[in-house]
Amino acid sequence: MASRTWTINAVRIIEADFNRSADTHLIPLPLPALPGVHVYLKDESSHPTGSLKHRLARSLFLYALANGWIREGTTVVEASSGSTAVSEAYFAGLLGLPFVAVMPRATSPEKIAAIEFYGGRCHFVERAAQIYDAAVQLAAASSGHYMDQFTYAERATDWRGNNNIAESVFAQMALEPHAEPRYIVCAAGTGGTPATFTRYVRYRRHATEVVVADPEDSVFYDYYASGDCTLTCEGASRIEGIGRPRVEASFIRESIDAMVKVPDAASIAAIHWLQRAIGRRAGGSTGTILYGALPLLQRMAQAGESGSVVLVMCDGGERYAHSYYDDDWLRSSGLDPSPYLPRIGAFLERGVAQDWGVRECRR
Ligand SMILES: *Cc1c(COP(=O)(O)O)cnc(C)c1O
Repeated sequence: MASRTWTINAVRIIEADFNRSADTHLIPLPLPALPGVHVYLKDESSHPTGSLKHRLARSLFLYALANGWIREGTTVVEASSGSTAVSEAYFAGLLGLPFVAVMPRATSPEKIAAIEFYGGRCHFVERAAQIYDAAVQLAAASSGHYMDQFTYAERATDWRGNNNIAESVFAQMALEPHAEPRYIVCAAGTGGTPATFTRYVRYRRHATEVVVADPEDSVFYDYYASGDCTLTCEGASRIEGIGRPRVEASFIRESIDAMVKVPDAASIAAIHWLQRAIGRRAGGSTGTILYGALPLLQRMAQAGESGSVVLVMCDGGERYAHSYYDDDWLRSSGLDPSPYLPRIGAFLERGVAQDWGVRECRR
């Protein structure tokens, strides 16, 4: 009974965090050169822990509490490329639980600092593909709970509603000229966000298509095209938060309308263009999404089609000042945004059509 009392209080603490929070903004991106095409950014950087992973961490904790997997004193372990661990460290701190993040050594120092700020501990592995086994072992050694975002993201989030990201977007679009988006463009780390959007639009009987943009070092695009769930890749994605070295269970291939494969340097160019356009810095995955949306916007403009397109702004640029916004870092990482930047400007600012050089797949 004492343990039930603890669980009830833990759920209350998480619900109270939600109750104190405002919804994230939906920001219009003015594009006078593309009349009729209305683009919006769903700004997930304004969550208390700075990214869309705040939603996921809340859902994963509630799911684990409801299942009885987390109890008083349980050590919570997660395999993460960074953002999820930041948000989970925050919730573990609220509940007074020990938290260990298992991450690739290349994770940005800003994310490591954020995890430690919330009282979490970081455990590093050399290669991205090693995080899963290391997390299983650490959880077993501490009789703790491995949260396993890559398996549970798609089911921990209530895709029918409950103020998930999709329900929030549709509510905020209600008074816009084209309330039902033609496209929603997002990206996949766990695949939880795409799964929430794709299921929600079908359940609510919307015509909206959900398009997923994938970075270079990731198997999701090839898996989407081929259906081969045994695919793996060697390198870690340079676009933090998205792209995986193996097919994750939360990535629901059949639900996605189309995918686009975006060069990493183009993702960086897109966030640099966005900074000039709205005066705000976003993380790299927002650039992948923005660049991946360009062929869609161009086809709408060429067809004289008017409509709205919603892009997810997954996190802000604060955690990437020493990477995506640092010229020396970009040079040493072999990422040169300069060929892409003028083309993005030519199209979005002057309406001049471009060859985007991306692979697209529709199923
Ligand atoms: C996790 C993440 C994504 C992708 O979201 P999923 O729901 O895990 O697919 C995109 N951008 C950033 C910065 C992330 O951390």
